[in-house]
Amino acid sequence: MSDTRFLDFAKVCSRIEEISGSIAITEIVSDFFRRLDDEELSIVPHFIMGKVFAEWSPYEMGIGPGLLYDAVKQAFDTDKSEINKALRRTGDIGKAIEIFAANRRQQTLFAEDLTIKKVYASFVEIAKKVGPGSQKKKVRLLVDLFLQASPLEVRYLSRLVLEELRIGVGEGIVRDAIAKAFEVDVELVERALMLTNDPGIVATYARNYGNDGLKSIELFPGRPVKMMLAQVAAGIEDALANIQSPAIEWKFDGTRVQIHKDGDEIRIYSRKLENVTESIPEIVSVVKKKLSGDSFILDGEVIAIDDDGKPRPFQDILRRFRRKHRVEEMRNLIPLHLHVFDILYLDGKTLIDLPLSERREILEGIAVSDEAPIAKQYLCNDAGMIDRIYNEALHAGHEGIMVKNRDSRYTPGKRGKNWLKIKPLMETLDLVVVGGEWGEGKRANLIGSYRLACLDPARDRLLEIGRVGTGLTDEQLIEFTELFSDLILSETGSSIEFKPEIVFEVAYEEIQKSTKYDSGYALRFPRVLGLREDKSVADADTIERVEQLYNKKGC
Ligand code: AMP
Repeated sequence: MSDTRFLDFAKVCSRIEEISGSIAITEIVSDFFRRLDDEELSIVPHFIMGKVFAEWSPYEMGIGPGLLYDAVKQAFDTDKSEINKALRRTGDIGKAIEIFAANRRQQTLFAEDLTIKKVYASFVEIAKKVGPGSQKKKVRLLVDLFLQASPLEVRYLSRLVLEELRIGVGEGIVRDAIAKAFEVDVELVERALMLTNDPGIVATYARNYGNDGLKSIELFPGRPVKMMLAQVAAGIEDALANIQSPAIEWKFDGTRVQIHKDGDEIRIYSRKLENVTESIPEIVSVVKKKLSGDSFILDGEVIAIDDDGKPRPFQDILRRFRRKHRVEEMRNLIPLHLHVFDILYLDGKTLIDLPLSERREILEGIAVSDEAPIAKQYLCNDAGMIDRIYNEALHAGHEGIMVKNRDSRYTPGKRGKNWLKIKPLMETLDLVVVGGEWGEGKRANLIGSYRLACLDPARDRLLEIGRVGTGLTDEQLIEFTELFSDLILSETGSSIEFKPEIVFEVAYEEIQKSTKYDSGYALRFPRVLGLREDKSVADADTIERVEQLYNKKGC
């Protein structure tokens, strides 16, 4: 059995950073996968994408730039201003911290001993420290790791703890590298990745059991999968031109949930795949009482309803979802309702490869009574009728409608033309906040403006598109300053870089071409509508969507 050094991983990352071209990168990654033993192979596919744990895992590192810098200060006997200087010089957090490691008085004697397994075990320890006093303990463990690491290892450890590896390896390269390393079918790897949400498991299955092993992978309750996503349609005619056999549903104005039942145990996950079961007991009880089946996985939307029957603002729902204390009290204040619209698994059978029409029949089959929380579905392909449903949905205070292809499979994590959403115009963009600027005068202690970026998923990077500042209320300025203060990577003058983690919903007057930002576009009069706390960076809008919106304006 091998015991691969973390240094080998660091060298692979460094080689990848020096080249471009996905074929060459895939080659390096697949060679590395082949050299690993099973335990390492369950870890490295995450690491190489800059993730410490699988997305479904309950573990979270809980280390932001603030804690990382505390560890750097202790491990390398330095201070914040030195760290800032190094950041400015290198432009990269990993390379900056590497400098301190290279310059420390006593070089480590144990560099050879730091293995991938040891690093992972330390990460698990760090993640397990929660509650009062946990931050100090996390920092201590990180200091221990730094003290055992060589400078190159420090570079990648630093980026990995922040989950900001950014060497350009995304899920596509990992998928191809698994297929190449173990000579298995790339489509089977793709399917297995969708079902398990865990490239570590897929890689070990591919090596040990080949194509047949991959085929045998099923969903199982208790492990969340990514949710299927929708594309925007220009209107009803456009949706009907794309979908021959449509099913129409309201697009509820709430938040997404994935519900897992396994015997008596119910677990509910948010769109970010966080376990939110404890904070929404009434949804747990409705699932228990109104839906039958020993084990299942369902997809749906939870909404909060006002006294007048209209959905309440999204922020109110989130007040419920994040709550760990006084759950009962909030339950009376903001009651929640469930609308289930899909089923992925029932009593031992994975259903995602069945067409929507069959899944829907199965879903209706588990309703205990007419009061079951199943979203209404209308089967009609008449534009006039659909327009009426659309107006009803808007009148009821919801966002619009979804037009779904009844012949389509459920594709976890994929945004395709099989689910089309139709909403009134005034599109907003969900953008990642990558930087900001301290205010002036009496607002010098507040972050006064924010730099926004969209996603370029093909190249695993963020492209800036503009900045927002005006229009933020005093309360928002204070709230956001607090929120972002633990995400500060570096500061130059009044300008700040953030760890990209937070998504803003942004309205604007127009999208323009611009050379000012690296996306090639800029927003005219952007305004922050609020935080999209249910969205992670990977769910933000893409450059493709920006281009689409830009092109649409001429029509
Ligand atoms: P968007 O967030 O604009 O990309 O729209 C997709 C979201 O609409 C999904 O993630 C769900 O949270 C929500 N949604 C509301 N009603 C439905 C429905 N009937 N089917 C699918 N998604 C829905």
